[in-house]
Amino acid sequence: MIKKEPLVRHEIVSIGKSLFDRGLSAGSSGNISVRLEDGFLMTPTGSTLANLDPETISKLDQKGNYISGDPPTKESSLHLAVYGKRPECGAVVHLHPTYTTALSCLADVNPDSVLPAMTPYQVMRIGTLPLIPYYPPGDPGLAQAVGEKASEHGVLLLANHGPVVSGKSLEQAAFICEELEEAARIYFLTLGLPVRHLTRQQVEELTRHFKS
Ligand code: ZN
Repeated sequence: MIKKEPLVRHEIVSIGKSLFDRGLSAGSSGNISVRLEDGFLMTPTGSTLANLDPETISKLDQKGNYISGDPPTKESSLHLAVYGKRPECGAVVHLHPTYTTALSCLADVNPDSVLPAMTPYQVMRIGTLPLIPYYPPGDPGLAQAVGEKASEHGVLLLANHGPVVSGKSLEQAAFICEELEEAARIYFLTLGLPVRHLTRQQVEELTRHFKS
């Protein structure tokens, strides 16, 4: 269900602050968007998630044209690329959290699945995590590459940059972003140790029973 705009504006402010307060979005990095009945709300360029103003959050029409508030994040094309391919997507969160971003910088990973299956919640919430090749922020090629993978994957990892996470709601997208950060942290904590990964059969069972 699509929520009313004033409520969504306040939700963006409170979830943005919560992500910032817990160290998931340093400085002015990270951006959030939510789909409305008549377009999108997006965090403004140069803003910090620490103290967003509900009145100045950017509003875009259904085609992604900027219509009011402060100008939107320079990474707006990433968000729009996801919405264009995921009709059920209600919100997109893009952050640069430490461990997930570190994961995005590793060489010699499998670009179809960067994170090996280690815990059931990782499999259920995040699924297979593909790596999008590196492009500079704001490069049209980046949005295009995201669009190509977004129909199949709700969670994407931009090489040498960070995650792009979609959800039915903003709360869900934020939760998934946090769970991805924890999964990446577990990955680094166990790197170099003999790890018991989940088997293909265990992953298939989890996907079949739990993934929506
Ligand atoms: Zn970014």
